[in-house]
Amino acid sequence: MGIEGYFIEVDTRHTVEVIDITKKIENIISSSDLSKGMVNVFSPHTTTAICVNESESRLMNDLKDGFYQLVDWEKGYQHNQIDRNAPAHLVSSFVGCQKTFNFSEGKIRLGTWQSIFFVELDGPRRRKVNIQLVGE
Ligand code: ZN
Repeated sequence: MGIEGYFIEVDTRHTVEVIDITKKIENIISSSDLSKGMVNVFSPHTTTAICVNESESRLMNDLKDGFYQLVDWEKGYQHNQIDRNAPAHLVSSFVGCQKTFNFSEGKIRLGTWQSIFFVELDGPRRRKVNIQLVGE
């Protein structure tokens, strides 16, 4: 039984962006000493999210549109008096900042069409995602 902590860096280029990070996480798992267990993918930011869906470019654009439609980005939110990014905080809260998956033989046990996405909501920025492995 072991626990291993890693992180990946993601450079985002747009205000809202959906980035497939599945390969980066699988690379960490296959280079670790663990062959099976659980992996937690945690984004330590208040204006990003982690979600799971199909890595198809048009769908990823649709997701991006969906995040814009989820809240009113033009509304005069109270937090906007401080740093003008309240919509990003709201969408981050609704989608969530972490997910946990099973893995074995270096592979994350995802469904055929599932990939893990990092969601930027207040870019562009350099972001960090914590990857915690627990297994044997
Ligand atoms: Zn803020």
